[in-house]
Amino acid sequence: MFFSDFFSSRGKTPAAKTAGVTGDNGKVMIETGLAGKVVIVTGGAAGIGKATARRFAQEGCQVASWDVKEAEPEAGGIFQKVDVTDAASVESAIEEAERALGPVYALVNNAGILRDGQIVKFKEGGIAGMMSDEQFDAVIAVNLRGVFVATRAVAARMIRSGAGGVILNASSVVGLYGNFGQTNYVASKAGVIGMTRVWAREFGRFGIRVNAVAPGIIDTDMMRAVPEKAREALRAHTPLGRMGQPEDIANAYLWLASDAASFISGAVLSVDGGIVMGT
Ligand code: NAD
Repeated sequence: MFFSDFFSSRGKTPAAKTAGVTGDNGKVMIETGLAGKVVIVTGGAAGIGKATARRFAQEGCQVASWDVKEAEPEAGGIFQKVDVTDAASVESAIEEAERALGPVYALVNNAGILRDGQIVKFKEGGIAGMMSDEQFDAVIAVNLRGVFVATRAVAARMIRSGAGGVILNASSVVGLYGNFGQTNYVASKAGVIGMTRVWAREFGRFGIRVNAVAPGIIDTDMMRAVPEKAREALRAHTPLGRMGQPEDIANAYLWLASDAASFISGAVLSVDGGIVMGT
C-alpha cells in the first residue's frame, strides 16, 4: 500500500532513496507499511474520528472504531460501543478487538468533547456565571483521562507482545496557545501534549512511537457548536483562509502511523492552515 497523494510532487520527483520511498510517474510514493495492521480509533462515529477510521481502512487496515454513539464499522473492521472514560469497558473492548482482528498496531486517541464557558464571567458590573465543576470534570474525563485509560491498556499489550506500535493523540491548537472560554478544554489538550512527551520517553525502548496532532479549526459537529462569529474570526485568522476538513487530520494521523514517520516520536504536529502563526 502506498500513501501517494499526500506527497504529490507536481511532476518533480525528488531522487529520494530513503527506505520506503520510491518515485513513480512524477509522484513520490511512500510505503505506509500499514496494510493488514489493526488500528483502534476512539470517537470514530463522527467528524475527524470517522474520517480517520475510513482513511486507515482505505489503506488496508482493520479498524476497530470506538464511540459512545452507535455507528457502522468501516470495511473489514468492527464498531464497538465504548466510553473511553470507563476503564473496564476499554479493557474488554481491546480484548474483543484483538480476538476479532488480531494484535493492535496503532491507537488513535481522538474522542473529545467541549463544555465551553469562562471560568468567571463578568457582565454588566457583576458576576454572570462560572465554569462549573461538572463542566471542568466532564472535559478532563474524556479528553485527558480517556486518553490515559486507552493508552495504558493498549501500551501494556504492545509492550508484552514486543511488536512495537504507534499511539497518536488528539491535542489542539488551543492546547499550545490557550483560548478564551476554554479553561477545561485547553487544560485537557495541553495535558495531552505533556502525556505524549512522557510516553514517547517511556515507550521508545519498546519500539512504540507516540505523537500528538494539533488541529486548527476543522469542519465537524464540534466546531459547528462554536458560535458563528467566533468560528468566522478563527477562519479569518487562518493563513490558508479556510476551515480544515476532517480528512486533513485523518491524513496526518495516517502519515504519522506509517513507516514514513518511523523516526518521529514525541512530536506535536500542527495541522491548522497556519493559524498558530497568527496567535
Ligand atoms: P466530534 O464532536 O465531531 O466527534 C467526537 C466523537 O467523539 C463523537 O462521535 C463523540 O460521540 C465521541 N465521544 C465523545 N465522548 C466519548 C467517550 N467518552 N468515549 C468515546 N467516544 C466519545 O469532534 P471532532 O471535531 O471530530 O474532534 C475530534 C477530536 O479532535 C477531539 O479530541 C477534538 O478535541 C479534537 N479537535 C477538533 C478540532 C475541530 O476544530 N473540530 C480542533 C482541534 C482539536
